[in-house]
Amino acid sequence: MKRLTILGSTGSIGESTLDVVARHPGRYAVEALAAAKNDAKLLAQCLAHKPRYAVLVDADAAERLRKALRENGSDTEVWQGAAALERTATLPQVDAVMAAIVGAAGLPATLAAARAGKDVLLANKEALVMSGALFMRAVAEGGARLFPVDSEHSAIFQSLPDDFQCGRAGEVARSGVRRILLTASGGPFRTTPVEQLVAVTPDQACAHPNWVMGRKISVDSATMMNKGLEVIEAHWLFGAPLEQIEVVVHPQSVIHSMVEYRDGSVMAQLGAPDMRTPIACALAWPERIDSGVAPLDFTRLGRLEFEPVDLQRFPCVRLAGEAIGRGGTAPAALNAANEIAVEAFLAGKMRFTKIAGVIENVLEEHAVEDLVTLEQVYAADIEARALAARLVAHP
Ligand code: NDP
Repeated sequence: MKRLTILGSTGSIGESTLDVVARHPGRYAVEALAAAKNDAKLLAQCLAHKPRYAVLVDADAAERLRKALRENGSDTEVWQGAAALERTATLPQVDAVMAAIVGAAGLPATLAAARAGKDVLLANKEALVMSGALFMRAVAEGGARLFPVDSEHSAIFQSLPDDFQCGRAGEVARSGVRRILLTASGGPFRTTPVEQLVAVTPDQACAHPNWVMGRKISVDSATMMNKGLEVIEAHWLFGAPLEQIEVVVHPQSVIHSMVEYRDGSVMAQLGAPDMRTPIACALAWPERIDSGVAPLDFTRLGRLEFEPVDLQRFPCVRLAGEAIGRGGTAPAALNAANEIAVEAFLAGKMRFTKIAGVIENVLEEHAVEDLVTLEQVYAADIEARALAARLVAHP
């Protein structure tokens, strides 16, 4: 029986995780569920999955949950506050932690899980983008195992040799890899005339052609910042230099990414665009379990297309490359600026086309420091958020 903590259980990845877990009652036990403020959804999850602990960051929401659980005769204990996220990620009886909180808020608990030597099932790419080398060091020092949940990174992981371990220095070079080919759908605006992008709404940006996801990552897909963050994520997870990672636009999202070997072989992972496949893979690796995902019907797939990224249309991909090239605290600043810009766009305070400009300005202003401590990451994050907020308010 594998005991799980699910951070971000009320989100898109959290719900898909619980869906997979529910298909295997004797195999997984939910020890803790955690979210920010959605007490109604967490209540339903607690009643269905009976975790020992439930965490909400928001105090009022936590109180409402406590009361509702009592009224329903549940003995799930409710903890409140951001520090409780780390407590649930490090419980001694927990074997694996699904890190599916969105954004920088997920970093402390994900790091804590790594330091505590858990199996870390990593959906929260922002944590790795922000703290890169420090995060990978925490994984190594804590004796944790890192399993990618992002569909592209799961595809790469599955296309690498069976005994490949994420984050172990030199693994990718030893595996005979020539290139990692990270596929991208191109999002909802791949073919939209560029002059129309200035007027797109949050709902249009969140209407992804292939995937159903939370709103922040949906906007990241529309700007293709998501792919930029994923390049940084791949760099750290697989220990691959940037020159070995190439983005290929593949609008059908059937091939989730590929690995090209020195001898010319290309291994690809295919599947329906449903996050339950990479989640099930991370939960059960090296075994394979039922995920509830419908099989691919190759006779109905039609054409599979590939094209290069249009960097004029998607400047965020270039900005992410520049941030990793500058190194140190630059990716943390990039991530923070992106979070603020996306939040402003989703709130109707800023146009879609301004997102890249805000990030670019923040990166220009940011004084990069070599990354030695986590405090530097948090300082860069706070400073970049403040600057981005000023740019949003007074463009
Ligand atoms: P959602 O927006 O659907 O869910 C976010 C979750 O995080 C919710 O449970 C939310 O709680 C919780 N949360 C938000 N802020 C905080 C906070 N400050 N403290 C604690 N919990 C918080 O996001 P997704 O599920 O789409 O994405 C989660 C992560 O997975 C992201 O990092 C994303 O990039 C990554 N990812 C997602 C994919 C997808 O298909 N959705 C694919 C690949 C990666 P509440 O509901 O209470 O607000």
